[in-house]
Amino acid sequence: MTEQGQSTKGGAGTKDKPNQKKDALVSEITPQSEDFSRWYLDVVLKAELADYTPVKGCMAIRPYGYAIWELIQQGLDKRFKATGHVNAYFPLFIPEKLLTREAEHVEGFSPQVAWVTRGGDEDLEERLAIRPTSEAIIGTMYAKWIKSWRDLPVLINQWANVVRWEKVTRPFLRTTEFLWQEGHTAHETEAEAQEETMKILALYKEFVQTELAMPVVDGQKSESEKFAGASRTFSIEALMGDGRALQAGTSHNLGQNFAKAFEIQFQGRDKTVQNAWTTSWGVSTRLIGGVIMTHGDDSGLILPPRVAPYQVVIVPIPRGNWQETVLPKAREIRDALVAQGVRVMLDDRDEYSPGWKYAEWEMRGVPVRLEIGPKDIEKAQVMLARRDTREKLPTPMEGLPSAILALLDDIQSALYARALQFREAHTQRVTSYDEFKAAMEGRPGFVIAFWCGSADCEAQIKADTQATLRNIPFSSGPIVPGTCVRCGQPASVEAWFAKSY
Ligand SMILES: [Zn+2]
Repeated sequence: MTEQGQSTKGGAGTKDKPNQKKDALVSEITPQSEDFSRWYLDVVLKAELADYTPVKGCMAIRPYGYAIWELIQQGLDKRFKATGHVNAYFPLFIPEKLLTREAEHVEGFSPQVAWVTRGGDEDLEERLAIRPTSEAIIGTMYAKWIKSWRDLPVLINQWANVVRWEKVTRPFLRTTEFLWQEGHTAHETEAEAQEETMKILALYKEFVQTELAMPVVDGQKSESEKFAGASRTFSIEALMGDGRALQAGTSHNLGQNFAKAFEIQFQGRDKTVQNAWTTSWGVSTRLIGGVIMTHGDDSGLILPPRVAPYQVVIVPIPRGNWQETVLPKAREIRDALVAQGVRVMLDDRDEYSPGWKYAEWEMRGVPVRLEIGPKDIEKAQVMLARRDTREKLPTPMEGLPSAILALLDDIQSALYARALQFREAHTQRVTSYDEFKAAMEGRPGFVIAFWCGSADCEAQIKADTQATLRNIPFSSGPIVPGTCVRCGQPASVEAWFAKSY
């Protein structure tokens, strides 16, 4: 089975078995510099995060990918509950007459709606939409549940799947069916609704930066990019490794638009009948795509420890009677780490060489690898390898769990710092339109420029450069008014532009 002359490239090879499989595995990933999009798909498929299915535009999320989603869910759910939200569940189907009640909403979503027209043998009297989002059905239920100011606020979140008929799809980033959470809240006053909208945006930002190690810019969307039917939309935007932006989460202040359409009314403190103020907000499995494209490299995935299904992989070196010597020690180390809450995979598979396993778990992005052989046991140490820096260092077994816990924190921070540095290196402030166009043609990334607020200028910029207005950040601080990069008219805000996913 060995092929003569096959080298152990990369230096992480084993002398025990031929290394052919390892080389084959790594070489199957297209380098980022050659074709980033191909690299992304290679990583999704080879790392077994997701796979294509016979259903066009719909992916199967494989266990390894789903484990990342579960960690994302847990991290968010904990935060939603800590801020007073509760979970509930609403129907997958939305009767057509409900979906069409809010004019802008239906106009925005109708090109993407999948319809059910038959049930069993019979044509339906009224078509049912498969939810593209749930404002219509949840708003209808809120109208039933909310009677008085005493019933407010209502702070409900739903974990669900939604369907949006997409022409071009890519696993995690844009699929016809995807998983997400959608929060829907109703409030007594406009101020409370705005406070909720901002609270959630801040929660998303903190979550994505802390757990996914993805730096994001938070700000307000332009009129043309806001959610269909919303008064105002806010977003967090991240920068991917190819210099394209990814909208990582949105929070909408719906004003009274949906309350009026769905009759979410209550008797106020002054006994008058009032419309509620509502919000909605969501993040989706798209975040997994964001993690892949923020941190990955030519060897594959690099997972931030907080969302890594396995934070540590232990690879025993099969020398001599290793099953009696090395393996028990490896199990002991695993148990000690698990006792500290570390997620560990002990890869004791006999049929693969250590070198093959190193490449496999590197490709799948496990943050820390521990190699242990007879020599290490003699020296009471393990060989530790970091996925993010590729550093290898002998580490004493004594005190290993606490060393690992500290290291996982270090890796989490290092990944965030690296991503932030990348974003800063790929963010450019421009003052002229020529500069803007040159920036968009050359090195991709964010371009910051003054904008007059006109939708025409925004559309022209998009037509000329493919860049869209990502958002108007909160953090830009007090700025001296300037002139619109496109039309030269006075402009009081700076917007962030980028080509985006
Ligand atoms: Zn302008």
